[in-house]
Amino acid sequence: MKTALITGVTGQDGAYLSKLLLGRGYRVFGIVPRSTRYAYDNLDYLGVTSSVDFLDGDMADQGSLLRAVRQTRPDEIYNLAAQSFVAISWDQASLTTEVNALGALYLLEAMRSFVPRAKFYQASTSEMYGSAHVKGCQTEGTPFHPRSPYAISKLYAYWMTVNFRESYRMFCCNGILFNHESPIRGREFVTRKITEGVARIEAGLQKKIGLGNLDSKRDWGFAGDYVEAMRLMLQRKDPGDYIICTGKNHSIREFLDEAFRCIGIRDWKPYVFIDPSHKRPADVVNLKGRCDRARRELGWKPKVGFKELVRMMVEADRERVNSSSVR
Ligand code: NAP
Repeated sequence: MKTALITGVTGQDGAYLSKLLLGRGYRVFGIVPRSTRYAYDNLDYLGVTSSVDFLDGDMADQGSLLRAVRQTRPDEIYNLAAQSFVAISWDQASLTTEVNALGALYLLEAMRSFVPRAKFYQASTSEMYGSAHVKGCQTEGTPFHPRSPYAISKLYAYWMTVNFRESYRMFCCNGILFNHESPIRGREFVTRKITEGVARIEAGLQKKIGLGNLDSKRDWGFAGDYVEAMRLMLQRKDPGDYIICTGKNHSIREFLDEAFRCIGIRDWKPYVFIDPSHKRPADVVNLKGRCDRARRELGWKPKVGFKELVRMMVEADRERVNSSSVR
């Protein structure tokens, strides 16, 4: 039986990855900070809470990570924990750096000390490309140009992961994932804000949704598909860095079109307003990836398309609203 240690186990990806690994017979340990935001809601939603072994720990506390790795001796380590909300990262830049950048270093050091032959996955992000305006798509070879404290902290963790691979010949991979969503996406993220808002507007519980730049474009996939790629990276003979994406991007306007269409509304303008507080000091307007390497070397490709994803999220939020759990 393989053992996996997951940081960020209570988040969106942590929950989907736990379900995937448990289904494949892994023993799954998850590190949970004392002040957890989601508690076990996401793991409960996927029905796996009772199958995960939890350990107290925090990415900002090196000792707790050292203990977790020493105690569990994992075969695979998935570093998914993060202050993951880009907008907050300007207001909490040092916390974001501590958790996302130094946290990754602490975990890599713990692995080097206790299980140097284990395999390490770092949750890197398309935000690292930022304003790298490349006509067409971003690939693994596109130069980075991060535009937020979040993206900069992730770039540090990216290079530290590469550096441990090159310096100590450890099996360390970066998954450079483009945006991925699901019914358990955090409610502060734009996609979930829209799908929950749509469900609440339909139920008469909310009048309007306040949003930022409607012209921003993202390459959106389904989290359930993307965690498969994480596992596949760690099953390779050699470690590497892989972009995971759909290769298609859509604007927030297009997301609104699809989400409101699910409740029979074609003109969503009366239900949406531009909230200036969502304006970012530096924006990333256009991200679209190419995952040729993942297709070729991992045999991975996305299964859920854009329209199906939006519908899945709206339906889940309608169900929640109707069962009154988010009223
Ligand atoms: P998420 O839902 O926000 O989950 C983040 C997890 O990190 C939560 O379990 C959170 O716990 C935990 N965490 C936060 N601070 C921590 C700390 N100090 N110590 C220990 N754990 C801490 O994010 P996600 O969408 O699952 O994303 C997973 C990873 O992929 C993140 O690193 C994210 O930056 C990266 N990523 C995500 C996307 C995307 O589109 N979803 C794209 C590219 C990369 P609490 O919430 O309980 O505090």
